[in-house]
Amino acid sequence: MIHSQANPSLLLNDIQQNVQRASDSLSIEPYLVEMLNNCKRELIVSFPVLMDDGEPHIFHGYRVHHNIIRGPAKGGLRYHPEVNLEEIRALAMLMTYKCAVVNIPFGGAKGGIVCDPYALSTPEVERLTRRFATEINVLLGPETDIPAPDLNTSPQIMAWIMDTFSMNKGYSVLPVVTGKPLIVGGSQGRTESTGRGVANVTGFTAHDIGLKLQGARVVLQGYGKVGYPAARILQDDYGCKVVGIADVGGAVYREDGLPLQPLKEYEEKNHTVAGFHGCDHIEEEEVFSLPCEVFIPAALEDQVTPQRARNMSCSIVVEAANGPTTSEADAILQEKGITVIPDILASAGGVVVSYFEWVQGLQSYFWSEAEVNAQLKDIMECSYRSVAGEARRCSISLREAAYLIAVSRVAEATRVRGIYP
Ligand code: GLU
Repeated sequence: MIHSQANPSLLLNDIQQNVQRASDSLSIEPYLVEMLNNCKRELIVSFPVLMDDGEPHIFHGYRVHHNIIRGPAKGGLRYHPEVNLEEIRALAMLMTYKCAVVNIPFGGAKGGIVCDPYALSTPEVERLTRRFATEINVLLGPETDIPAPDLNTSPQIMAWIMDTFSMNKGYSVLPVVTGKPLIVGGSQGRTESTGRGVANVTGFTAHDIGLKLQGARVVLQGYGKVGYPAARILQDDYGCKVVGIADVGGAVYREDGLPLQPLKEYEEKNHTVAGFHGCDHIEEEEVFSLPCEVFIPAALEDQVTPQRARNMSCSIVVEAANGPTTSEADAILQEKGITVIPDILASAGGVVVSYFEWVQGLQSYFWSEAEVNAQLKDIMECSYRSVAGEARRCSISLREAAYLIAVSRVAEATRVRGIYP
């Protein structure tokens, strides 16, 4: 399991600061800034689940809608012992800006259940999921709120949510969740889409700053749903060499490149890369100072701290996780001349293909993997170009530019819609 060391209020503050800065430059009306700094609605649920030993256990969960001005609330659902309301609020906010920066018609949401999924049996996870889906049923729907996988949640869990919702309706409702298994309306390419988007933007950025990716050294923190596909695509399609990977159990290093597929099989069995044969074992902390061209934080919030940022010596940081860099660390990276591709752009590939899955489900017409990957690349390229162009025009960082674009889209949509009644 990925362990959270996140400091949720830090992330919330950082996002609000980014929004404030963008709002100041755009002269956004104070009422709009206040709206953006709060969540539209928050549902807190506590409910019993029958455990395998026959005893009921009470679980607590959240579903938060930050903003639904541009479309239905969209965002993942995470299962983790340290899930809390403030973290879910911050992550819901990030989803609003992520969807806005890549210009897909969704608002931002996030959900979570406080639990240790590795301590639960599969039937317990199924009962927990179905009961939670029922508890938040008032929010769910293809036009209102569409969950997706996130930390420790899977396509199987999405299938259970889709089935629970559909059973209550009396017919199959495919587009109520995304990230489903292919057999029940999932999209080709969804599983690796976040990682593919990460690789896409790494390619565009490297080209712009004159960095050759052929033979470039890549280091990752996190080797899960996002880190692994990003690493594999950067190796296979761009000729990169993945030299270091850290996770909660430890870290591995190999100067001539790690064997990605066997390492993933080992990680799936052991829930860590630590202990894998045929490479050097180093401390998790050491990966932050490994010499490399591309560093990819693909784990949790607030992992790139000021101290770690001071040790880093890469050319590009690609934020595959949500909120991995604290604002103080971000300033240090900027001072060192390291290009940071911000999370709301770099990690948007997942929700972009979620959008494709939703569209395919609504139309009952499914696309080929080549079509999904090509459309994803188009959206990532177009979004990257607008962010990089804005950054150049205004002499600001990619993060500031991404927030400028995202905040202005949400603000403009709000103005055009007007205030009801
Ligand atoms: N959980 C993913 C994210 O943080 C995907 C969300 C979605 O597809 O709705 O971007």
